[in-house]
Amino acid sequence: MKTDNLNGRPKVVIVGGGFGGLYAAKGLANKGVSVTLVDRKNHHTFQPLLYQVATSVLSPGEIATPLRHVLFKAKNVEVILGEVTSLDTKTRKVLLDGGGELEFDYLVVAAGARHSYFGHDEWERDAPGLKTVEDATEIRRRILQAFEAAEREAHLTGAYPPLHFAIIGGGPTGVELAGAIADIARRAMSQDFRLIDPTRARISIFEGSPRVLGMYTERLSDSAKRQLEELGVEVNTASRVTAVEQGRIKVGEEWIPTTVTLWATGVAASPLGRMLSAETDRAGRVPVQPDLSIRDDKNVFVIGDMALLTDASGKPVPGLAAAAQQEGRATAANILRDVRGAARVPFSYWDKGSMATIGRNRAVAQVGRLGFSGYVARMMWAFVHVALLGGGRSRLMVLREWLWARYTRERSARLITGNTYGR
Ligand SMILES: Cc1cc2nc3c(=O)[nH]c(=O)nc-3n(C[C@H](O)[C@H](O)[C@H](O)COP(=O)(O)OP(=O)(O)OC[C@H]3O[C@@H](n4cnc5c(N)ncnc54)[C@H](O)[C@@H]3O)c2cc1C
Repeated sequence: MKTDNLNGRPKVVIVGGGFGGLYAAKGLANKGVSVTLVDRKNHHTFQPLLYQVATSVLSPGEIATPLRHVLFKAKNVEVILGEVTSLDTKTRKVLLDGGGELEFDYLVVAAGARHSYFGHDEWERDAPGLKTVEDATEIRRRILQAFEAAEREAHLTGAYPPLHFAIIGGGPTGVELAGAIADIARRAMSQDFRLIDPTRARISIFEGSPRVLGMYTERLSDSAKRQLEELGVEVNTASRVTAVEQGRIKVGEEWIPTTVTLWATGVAASPLGRMLSAETDRAGRVPVQPDLSIRDDKNVFVIGDMALLTDASGKPVPGLAAAAQQEGRATAANILRDVRGAARVPFSYWDKGSMATIGRNRAVAQVGRLGFSGYVARMMWAFVHVALLGGGRSRLMVLREWLWARYTRERSARLITGNTYGR
């Protein structure tokens, strides 16, 4: 065992400071192990609120917290900023970009997932997806820039082309983005411009399958569609996008002009998964044992969006923040059981439900067999997600901004940053 020099404690390396990795580190804080958490970002991102940064409700600082700060009281946890390029389970080493390696006795891999462009990575430039704070501020820039460009055109020429925000994918992210864009266009920005009328902007979802939110019951999918349409969002189902270019998308055989195109479909787990298992699924997720370790190595755990598992009761565990959090805690507890010489306990998932917001006041929520829509579902979403927020300052900051945005038209985060003119 590669014990740490000072105290002879087992070494744990955690890859990724997202929901899974961070909660594994918290579970091991100030315990009898030496922990190194490595992430290519210096912050933990609260992804469920990214769409609110992308649509100017919240600022990046309200949904991202420096990892070093979150873990500052955990004296046995070292945070390292770096990109993990390779995992070697034989030599027990994690390799970092630019050289450097970390030795481990236990490895927890929680590097998450990104969107998949189904073999068309070149579409990303014209249809960015939403995964990181940088993605959110880029999307915010494109949305705000589109309104500004239209006003400028109207001022200079007396006319401006129709605004069309097209969202590819009708899963939770697509539905949330479409609802939030409708909310800015129809409400928050409705009186900001002199010449253009933001309320007339076209906002549409293009979903390849027959319904939006296909993982929910049919009744909730229908309710989501209805709620989107009430906000003025055009919902196109059975509409597969076959090409993306600057300023247009191809749906079936038809080219449709767009002002801003956003990508909200497809999941690809971190490529690190394929270094651990030859049995990954099509999305690159690694099958794990009931204790979340991989089949060939009981000291290597894969958790969160990278893991493919059914829980102790046989239910598939979804790619949700709450699941990753629970897996992080369960992994930490099993490592500590090993250290004490106790038997490991299989992971059991506590399903807090799946939810998607639709604008400011609406949502759909599925909790077990129960389905909720509208304002009740929106309150349930707020309750579950505020509980997921780290606590303390960030919870208060988010609540304050939500209340402010709710009772005023103001969006304190409505700034265009980065390159204002170019793409
Ligand atoms: C837009 C959006 C909205 C969502 N909404 C909800 C919601 O409303 N409710 C909900 O429950 N879930 C939601 N989710 C899903 C939820 O955020 C994920 O299930 C959860 O974040 C998974 O946690 P994770 O630890 O597996 O990965 P992540 O939280 O993605 O963390 C992965 C970490 O690994 C780091 N990393 C990746 N590769 C490397 C590398 N090679 N080297 C070093 N570091 C690396 C990343 O920087 C990141 O910090 C949403 C996701 C998105 C993208």
